[in-house]
Formats: sequence, C-alpha cells, structure tokens
Amino acid sequence: MSRLSGRTALVTGASRGIGRGIALRLGREGALVAVHYGSNETAAKETVADILAAGGRAFAVHAELGVPGDAAALWAAFDRAIEAYGERPGLDILVNNAGIALHGEIGTVTEADYDRLFAVNVRAPFFVVQQGLERLRDGGRVINVSSGVTRIALPVLSAYAMTKGALDTMTLTLAQQLGARGITVNAVAPGIIDTDMNSHLADPEQRAQAASLAVLGRVGEPADVAGLVAFVASDDAGWVTGQILDATGGSHLG
Ligand code: NDP
Repeated sequence: MSRLSGRTALVTGASRGIGRGIALRLGREGALVAVHYGSNETAAKETVADILAAGGRAFAVHAELGVPGDAAALWAAFDRAIEAYGERPGLDILVNNAGIALHGEIGTVTEADYDRLFAVNVRAPFFVVQQGLERLRDGGRVINVSSGVTRIALPVLSAYAMTKGALDTMTLTLAQQLGARGITVNAVAPGIIDTDMNSHLADPEQRAQAASLAVLGRVGEPADVAGLVAFVASDDAGWVTGQILDATGGSHLG
C-alpha cells in the first residue's frame, strides 16, 4: 500500500492506543509519520520502531499538551525533528488525536478537572491547528478524533462529551475556512475502543456489555479507527469535508 507516499503526517498522541494505530497505518500507507507523545517516550519509540520495521518512515516528537505554550512547543519540536530527518519542512496530514477522558456525572466534576479536560481536548487542538496552518500544505488534511458520545447521551461522560462536541464544531468551521486551499477537515467519531483509556474492558463482564452496544457485536480496536483515518487522509476522500464520520461499529443505532 502506498496511497500516502510523499506525504508527511503528524499524529498527536501516537505513543499509545488509537493514535498509535493511526500512526502505524499511515506509515504502512507510505506517509512519513511524526509520532507525537506527551510523557511516554518508551511507547513513542516503540511506535516509531514498529513503523520502521514495517518498512515505513517515522520519527518521534515530544510536547506536553494542555499547558500554556503547548502548540508552539509542539511545532518547534516538529520543525527541529523534520529538519534533523532531512525531509522538507511542513506537512500534509494533521491528526488531532491526543486526548484524555473524565468519568463523572455533572455533580462530580471539579473546576480543575474541567479546565484540564478542555485544555487537553479542545484548547490544544485549536491552537495546534492555528499554528500549524502555515506548515500545512495546500490540498492537505486535518482529521480530528472526536467520539460517538456527541450523539449518544452518556451523563457519566458529560464534560468529556462536551469537549468532543467542541471539536466537531471546530471541524465544521475549519472546513469552511480551509476549503479554498483544498484542505479537507473532518472528524472521526469512535465508539468504545480497546485502549488504556478503557481499562475496565479487562473485566470480561464489562467487555461483553461494551461489545453488546455495537451492532457489529464487539469492542473496537485502534485499527478499526485507523482504517477510516487512512481513507480520509487519502485522495479517495478528497471530496469529503466538514463531516463527522462514525466509527462506533453501529452503537445505539436503534
Ligand atoms: P490513550 O489513553 O490510549 O492514549 C492517549 C494518547 O494521547 C497517548 O499517546 C498520550 O501520550 C497522549 N496524550 C494524552 N494526554 C496528553 C497530554 N496532556 N499531552 C500530550 N499527549 C497526551 O487514549 P485513546 O487512544 O483511547 O484515545 C485517543 C483519542 O481517541 C482521544 O482523543 C480520545 O478521547 C478518543 N476516543 C477514544 C475512545 C476509546 O474508546 N478509547 C472512544 C472515542 C474517542 P503519552 O503516551 O505520552 O501519555
């Protein structure tokens, strides 16, 4: 597969989980992948090593998100890394994937938790896009990782769902703005995916319950989301923009 050869992609939060799955897939499709991570350098190096082992090209980029100056730090690290790699500056595909969850109905959410959640899940991607626009080449892609919880009411994820709703709105408005440059902006909305974020899936009973939510009858894997992201990143999806693409295996269809 080489649908994406000649392209450079940055995937935030690519050390683990869904982001790692996306990075592996984009690497297999021929993209040079910048594997961003927050604190887990070992895991990021593993993602890079796995891409290289599969014949791809990748390098790691470190920046903590959700703190003042995060976007500037991320892009400075990206610029340094791509120069060191000997590749031309800039990129074609930006995947805003890094995010954190917060469990708790509205009554349990503290102001500090709320601010942290919005800083990582909303503020960071907003400024990453803002400061990345000069680097993103015409005809490029912005792909935001949202969540099925924006259409399925889950009070236990109230504040988290709000952050993804904000990301969906950003997707729509950015698509309008960037269309003139041939840049598409879309979101993918996963359902329950087997990652560190869902440690409760280790319990067979909870796993079976989660699997029963999807009409396809199982819990999702990072590769399920990665396939959709790779499609959106490809030329085949060049006429799709401003969309929220469901990747929940058909959760709560009826
Ligand atoms: P994981 O917890 O498995 O991985 C999170 C990734 O984001 C890691 O690479 C982590 O880096 C990075 N990250 C988290 N916080 C920060 C931070 N403050 N600064 C920099 N990097 C950070 O999560 P998932 O893979 O499950 O989730 C990925 C995305 O998918 C999130 O946006 C999530 O909301 C969304 N999503 C997940 C679903 C699921 O069921 N898992 C369902 C729907 C949406 P490091 O390893 O360095 O800590």
